[in-house]
Amino acid sequence: MASSSQATASKRGKKTQDWSWWDEVHSDKIGPTGGARSWSCKLCPYKRKGGADKVRAHLLHESGHEVRFCERITAEKKRELLERVAANESTSRPVHLVLP
Ligand SMILES: [Zn+2]
Repeated sequence: MASSSQATASKRGKKTQDWSWWDEVHSDKIGPTGGARSWSCKLCPYKRKGGADKVRAHLLHESGHEVRFCERITAEKKRELLERVAANESTSRPVHLVLP
């Protein structure tokens, strides 16, 4: 007699535009400027203060940001994040492709 089959799949699809790196971590407060915040990774115990670029560097293992790389992130999760980044960037600013 369970009737819990309608709570899923209500909000699918149009989520990419609202997404930001702050959704991937526990962060302090949502400031008006979107600058540096204190945040902690949802996947590992890592904590830091910094901007969204630090979150990105932590999760995607990008060097040059003085952050420790996430030890818990999976290849699958990484790919999902990269897809979100790509979707986000394509909506927020035009991409100029130079074709031969
Ligand atoms: Zn982490």
